Amino acid sequence: MKALSSRTAGFTDSVIRRMTRISNQYGAVNLSQGFPDFEPPAEILKRLEQVAHEDYNQYSITWGAQKLREALAQKQSRFMGRPIDPNSEIVVTCGSTEAMMAAVMTVTDPGDKLIVFSPFYENYGADVILAGAEPIYVPLYPPEFNFRPEELEAAFRQHPKALILCNPSNPSGKVFTRQELQFIADLAGKYDAYVITDEVYEHIVYQPYEHVYFATLPGMWERTLSCSSLSKTYSITGWRLGYIIAPPAITDVAKKVHDFLTVGAAAPLQEAVVPGLLFGRDYYDWLRDTYTAKRDLLLRGLDDIGIEHTNPQGAYYVLLDISRFGFDSDLEFCEVLARDVGVGAVPGSSFFREPVNHLIRLHFAKKDETLNEALNRLESIFRKIPAKK
Ligand code: GLN
Repeated sequence: MKALSSRTAGFTDSVIRRMTRISNQYGAVNLSQGFPDFEPPAEILKRLEQVAHEDYNQYSITWGAQKLREALAQKQSRFMGRPIDPNSEIVVTCGSTEAMMAAVMTVTDPGDKLIVFSPFYENYGADVILAGAEPIYVPLYPPEFNFRPEELEAAFRQHPKALILCNPSNPSGKVFTRQELQFIADLAGKYDAYVITDEVYEHIVYQPYEHVYFATLPGMWERTLSCSSLSKTYSITGWRLGYIIAPPAITDVAKKVHDFLTVGAAAPLQEAVVPGLLFGRDYYDWLRDTYTAKRDLLLRGLDDIGIEHTNPQGAYYVLLDISRFGFDSDLEFCEVLARDVGVGAVPGSSFFREPVNHLIRLHFAKKDETLNEALNRLESIFRKIPAKK
């Protein structure tokens, strides 16, 4: 038999999603793959019940149901501070996962270069390879995960077609400042590059940090593909609803890519989420406050146990330093953690280009009782996982 496509040889299956399977296997409290264990807003669930009887069973318009795009345009116009046209500037996708893949395929030809910050959300590596593009990795340095301006400009000098910007950032929890974004914008202008954003944590930003939409910086609307999703904002990761916002010259191409990749997102779910998009400011304040309390609960617990960790400015992840256990493989450490301590985590190496093996990622999009149970179990970590060296 002939060999299958070599396209996938450069990456494995998703380690994030693999860790969910491993957590389930050992009955661990799963803080690996980032998704909530609490309910979405009642208004959305109520609408879902009604929608089942309202004949939304066939395809919707390929780039998104009219009502969803109108509600989304209204909401994002408010938050981004510029009018967004529901008909020509939005493409609804199957999650931000498809939005990012479609954005990369909209912008690049095989052989084109793309700047990716490291650490990065693991999908970007596969997206770039599947599109036949070539990544240029630029490190973000802890503890604040800042880039070095000269390293970023050196990457731009290689004439990339685009830069991928995850803000707020998974897994580092970094929220890029306006000054940092302006520096990136200046380089994007100077070297004529597009910027593909992943802003799925746009509403999960801890005070005093603030989210600045890259597309709103002077001159950046024309060259930005703003990707995001409804998964994190409305706690509906399984609904697979995401989108790209961009000027019509870009969405014209993105619509074609999306159309042939998936035709469209699930029609009943596009209808059911509309009440969520019509929520006022209160909802987003509640979401921020809820996640702030969850972050504080987990970080305080980790401090009490004596595990060093990052301090996220946004998103819902924390990186734990496991150096003192002396494991050569963070993947092996995560298996032992799930099996012997009963907590699921993601090995940090799945996010870094550099050979980083001393970090693991936990997320805190969980009920307080789930987080407390994880902390109870983690209290025994030093007894149950003896240091190797
Ligand atoms: N963004 C989530 C994480 O990093 C998972 C997303 C997914 O599995 N599609 O864990």
